Amino acid sequence: MSTTWHVLGAGSLGTLWATRLARAGLPVRLVLRNEARMQAYRASGGLTLVEQGQTQRYPVPGETADSPEPIKRLLLACKAYDAEAAVASVAHRLDAESELILLQNGLGSQDAVANRVPQARCISASSTEGAFRDGDWRVVFAGHGYTWLGDPAHPVAPFWLDDLSAAGIPHAWSADILTRLWRKLALNCAINPLTVLYHCKNGGLQEHRCEVATLCAELTDLLERCGQPAAAEDLQPEVERVIQATAANYSSMHQDVANRRRTEISYLLGHACKAARRHELAIPHLEQLRQRLIAHLDNLGLPSD
Ligand code: NAP
Repeated sequence: MSTTWHVLGAGSLGTLWATRLARAGLPVRLVLRNEARMQAYRASGGLTLVEQGQTQRYPVPGETADSPEPIKRLLLACKAYDAEAAVASVAHRLDAESELILLQNGLGSQDAVANRVPQARCISASSTEGAFRDGDWRVVFAGHGYTWLGDPAHPVAPFWLDDLSAAGIPHAWSADILTRLWRKLALNCAINPLTVLYHCKNGGLQEHRCEVATLCAELTDLLERCGQPAAAEDLQPEVERVIQATAANYSSMHQDVANRRRTEISYLLGHACKAARRHELAIPHLEQLRQRLIAHLDNLGLPSD
């Protein structure tokens, strides 16, 4: 009998995972905030995935966080700023055999979650898949990608990666997941805040090469100081490559701001600046960028934490 996949966070990535696991015949249950969300979900008839123009509904069963059944496998698919509170809402259902897969972007939320539920095993993930919601309980699979999973505390891969293969979720076990998370954070810090401040697509940063290069130099120092030399390697050429390859796209932070959604700034640029302070490393341009971004978000009336 397969272990049930509990998916907490029926947003873009949570729905993308839940529907593919359910399609493969694996047991999946959605964990919803409260009875009101549960009723809304019931009325919708299930989760809808839109993929290559095809729309398919999956009647994945739902339950509320305070339901009493134990959870052995939990996919935490909320935003970084919601992760700690979300896991606290199901902490009473987790024990030493429970495994959590943390899909949050950036860094900081993974440690907060692990401290909140020390009894459980926490596996971090970094994904390049892309999805967005075009309605409540409806998600569009917008970009194929890859998901790396890893556990810095225990390098042995879990057996249930077979479930991901069965569900057609492209993935790999990564012995250096922290390197991947730091590298992605650094790319994000070099690109995303500037696209918000200059209100441009990624390609617009080709007009701001010097500023990007200065940020890359500070990020390289920071990664080395944080004991992440592999994440620092050739950062600037990769940032330039990403800017070119994604020139026509708006960054995720730009999209969040344009849609008046809260950003994950505290787990990206905010986390970088906090780490620099801890290591007593001066990164004046990144710090100034953080302050400009916070002022910009404040002006728009959006949360800046
Ligand atoms: P999202 O669409 O905003 O979905 C988050 C979901 O979590 C929402 O449905 C939200 O419910 C739910 N949630 C939050 N707190 C909860 C709680 N306490 N109990 C139950 N549900 C709760 O976010 P996303 O785009 O999937 O992003 C999730 C993470 O993946 C982020 O860190 C993001 O950066 C990362 N990521 C996303 C993508 C992508 O393409 N979307 C790609 C790579 C990485 P409500 O709707 O009720 O608020």
